[in-house]
Amino acid sequence: MGTKVTVWPKDLHTIRAMRDARLPVHAKCATCGLRLRVSYDLLIMKYGLHNDLVGKYEPCPRMGCHGQYVYYAKTGEGLPFRALVEHVA
Ligand SMILES: [Zn+2]
Repeated sequence: MGTKVTVWPKDLHTIRAMRDARLPVHAKCATCGLRLRVSYDLLIMKYGLHNDLVGKYEPCPRMGCHGQYVYYAKTGEGLPFRALVEHVA
């Protein structure tokens, strides 16, 4: 049994917190590399304001790809995009 360690800052977890902080966000398929543009309006419709994007895996929309995409965002200005995934330590 591992402990789940989230690499994403806890205060930026919810979609609302991310939107309010105006963090740039996109999604990318782990299999084919397809990059998807996403908007906070869309994310809120899909998951709700108080949900988070960490560990969300969605089926890739590309025809013939059976991969999944995950969300990427920046935690601040000038920082690189990071995948919103959980690591099991
Ligand atoms: Zn794909």
